[in-house]
Amino acid sequence: TLARLGGDEFAVLIDGAHEAHAVAVARRLLGSLSEPVWLADRELSVTASIGIALHPGGTGGSAELLRHADVAMYAAKEAGRDRFELFHYDMARELGEQLGLEHELRLGLQRGEFTLYYQPEVDLESGKIVGVEALVRWSSPRRGLVLPDRFIRVAETTGLILALGEFVLREACSQTAQWRNEGLLPEGFVTWVNLSGRQLMSGGFSDCVRLALHDAGLPAECLGLEVTETALVEEGTGGARARAELQQLHDEGVRIAIDDFGTGFSSLGQLRSFPVDMIKVDRSFVQGVEDGAKDAAITANLVTLAHALGLLAIAEGIESDTQLASLRGLGCDLAQGYLFARPLPEAQVRTVLTGGFGDLVSGSGVAA
Ligand code: C2E
Ligand code: CA
Ligand code: CA
Repeated sequence: TLARLGGDEFAVLIDGAHEAHAVAVARRLLGSLSEPVWLADRELSVTASIGIALHPGGTGGSAELLRHADVAMYAAKEAGRDRFELFHYDMARELGEQLGLEHELRLGLQRGEFTLYYQPEVDLESGKIVGVEALVRWSSPRRGLVLPDRFIRVAETTGLILALGEFVLREACSQTAQWRNEGLLPEGFVTWVNLSGRQLMSGGFSDCVRLALHDAGLPAECLGLEVTETALVEEGTGGARARAELQQLHDEGVRIAIDDFGTGFSSLGQLRSFPVDMIKVDRSFVQGVEDGAKDAAITANLVTLAHALGLLAIAEGIESDTQLASLRGLGCDLAQGYLFARPLPEAQVRTVLTGGFGDLVSGSGVAA
């Protein structure tokens, strides 16, 4: 039995299968999916991540079987996608940890354990700080300072990202308004906030943004939203609504950037129709710029493309002088990375806001 569970998730139920049989079916599925297909003059290839769970027999119900398959599918995704994994009970333990993490995240939100760090963005011509990216941190009483890579995905799968995202928006707006009221911000300064695809697709995020701006007394021009390519090209009514909401916010003055640009394969035609001000060249290209001819060529083209569309290009993850020199050579407008400063707690942002990076030397910077 083949079933669609929703979105791009499908389930195959094989009655009476044993392990070898299930594995053979998974191999065949991956094999036939790997055949390229033609769609409106374009050759597309799709991959799949498959999780296999065998019914344990006895008491386990269908819900448990599906949950196990889901856990195995996430393992397949994490192991690099386009493959299958068999469920085993270590995975279940990880799932148990996730549930624990979810519970702690919920509590943490209620108890105000989340804070924002801010990483400066530097204009490569003037060396001045023209903005910051707000990056969320969790000071967990049990785990210490936790980086988002540990909890954003769980927050996304559980829907907690909506409450967390709202907190981030409100906090970033009120903090920026405070700096602004103290006269610390140069003309044109933008605080950038990351939006997850789940937030975009949930509908109504634009009201959340407007309310945050309004309550903080911050002009829309001082706020930027970073969205990923994949979220922008989402199909269906949810995707169309998200793009319409972004367009409205953009019309009202909110800046939009495409994060991790170059990794999501959005087509050029689509890019032209998005309300976008800036693209962020993904760190993976920046890091390969010195030693890989391919990465250097891709980066050069991304910057050229941005400029051809009238957009700014920012390089993220700059760690060395040579990377900086290459990116400047390619005509990149802005840069962000450990070379200038790590993400900083609020108190230290004040210090760098009054300094800048005129000499383009390494900023100090503490913590992660
Ligand atoms: P991102 O949007 O690509 O953010 C940039 C990440 O690169 C940050 O990691 C930053 O600390 C790191 N980074 C900056 N400069 C350098 C560098 O020179 N070298 C290296 N190796 N890394 C550098 P962070 O803060 O751990 O955030 C990781 C990811 O978590 C972010 O990736 C973003 O996707 C997500 N994230 C962070 N805050 C939020 C948030 O408030 N909401 C949502 N939805 N996602 C967030
Ligand atoms: Ca980002
Ligand atoms: Ca990024």
